[in-house]
Amino acid sequence: MANVILSLTFFCSQRKKVYFCTERKLLINSNYKKMIWNPNKECMSRDEMSALQGKRLHKIVKYVYHNVPFYRHKLQEMDITPDDIQTIEDIQKLPFTTKKDLRDNYPFGLQAAPPSEIIRIHASSGTTGNPTIVGYTRKDIGVWSECMARCLTAYGVTRDDIFSVAYGYGLFTGGLGAHNGVEMVGASVVPASTGNTEKHARLIRDLGITGIACTPSYALYLAETMDRMGIKKDDIKLRVGAFGAEPWTEKMREEIEERLGLKGFNIYGLSEVMGPSVSYECQAQHGSHINEDHFYPEIINPVTLEPLPVGQQGELVFTTLTKEGMPVLRYRTRDLCSLLPGQCECGRTSVRMSAIHGRSDDMLIIRGINVFPSQVESVVLSMKEFAPRYMLIVDRVNNLDTLQVQVELRQEYFTSTFDTPAAIDELEKKLAGKLKSVLSIAAKVKLKAPNTIERSQGKSAHVIDNRNIK
Ligand code: ADP
Ligand code: ZN
Repeated sequence: MANVILSLTFFCSQRKKVYFCTERKLLINSNYKKMIWNPNKECMSRDEMSALQGKRLHKIVKYVYHNVPFYRHKLQEMDITPDDIQTIEDIQKLPFTTKKDLRDNYPFGLQAAPPSEIIRIHASSGTTGNPTIVGYTRKDIGVWSECMARCLTAYGVTRDDIFSVAYGYGLFTGGLGAHNGVEMVGASVVPASTGNTEKHARLIRDLGITGIACTPSYALYLAETMDRMGIKKDDIKLRVGAFGAEPWTEKMREEIEERLGLKGFNIYGLSEVMGPSVSYECQAQHGSHINEDHFYPEIINPVTLEPLPVGQQGELVFTTLTKEGMPVLRYRTRDLCSLLPGQCECGRTSVRMSAIHGRSDDMLIIRGINVFPSQVESVVLSMKEFAPRYMLIVDRVNNLDTLQVQVELRQEYFTSTFDTPAAIDELEKKLAGKLKSVLSIAAKVKLKAPNTIERSQGKSAHVIDNRNIK
């Protein structure tokens, strides 16, 4: 009973907020007005938002100054105290944070909350060796769920939906992140995770699942599996898809929508900042709204590190304004995109970001998992049989990403190995096993004779990406 009263109260207060928000804006498409989870935050005026961001920035800088020696030293070196940071514009005085900083301070060096306050730990791939560890307090998990609920509501998900989460559950933030949001909205969550696609396809049909969150490439793989099983679009009730964790194109969107009979929405995020739900598309689908009361975005020139004006493409940088577990100041995402000027017709006032156009580093996303060529290099170099010459060949076969790693044998091992097929097989398996444990995805290994892998210059010297995802 208490629950009923609570949810009724909540429902009414939400409705009131929606009304308040929509009344204030003139150009709002009335069909969208029910699709805002928290109008008080998503529809704030620019002045209110900037004031809130400034206040939160001051607080978070003070918090990390007193709780994270790494940030305190950095700020002291720059002669900055938390009192120098009063408005959101002051953010430009702060230092940047990079993935290398996280790696150098592995595992808990950047954690601000005491271990007793951390209730969840996720990990994402690092460039070499150590993964990036992210701890969350109870409040962080609450904020994350709220941000996720905002995304889902924007897509049109309600408590009447049955929603399947087909991001991987585990260290990766996708599965549990989306899961908590679906529960907060009150829809029925089906924690399908990845793999076991035939069983998942049957559940989609038999339970009448209406929404799904997964990578766009997995959505296509699911469509393929359903074709194979004879499950037709008319046999299923899917109507909403939340797709992200990897870049995707409008063409992919069209194909997924056509094959699964749903409307596909973008969701963006990264574990260092929170996980999925940092930004989300609304019904207008002109860029993705950033939850900027929690994650303050900037676009910088990745070479000069100068901030760029709204509209210009550059590297996306985030400062977490409310995070307790592992806050980050000006974290360089390496994702290239732009912030979109103007206000959206959906009624939200939050700033929107364009699709990700590329990366300012060489990170690949293969089956939703981040892969750095340097991780492959560290494995190759750890085995005496190989020369430091390798190539990653990424492809998409039947909508599933594949990775082949070619590596050159050293001269002294070449003759003895290539004389016996069993020896080749054994060495390929050994390398494949090591790669799997470091990358978390399977790679097919191909040994090459010395001096046969072409040398090229530049960033993509170690990668041939045959997928057409840009
Ligand atoms: P996540 O769990 O959100 O995938 P990771 O930290 O493993 O978090 O990976 C984050 C990276 O994934 C981002 O920096 C970005 O490169 C990529 N990514 C996430 N969502 C999207 C998206 N919607 N479009 C393009 N790239 C995305
Ligand atoms: Zn919008």
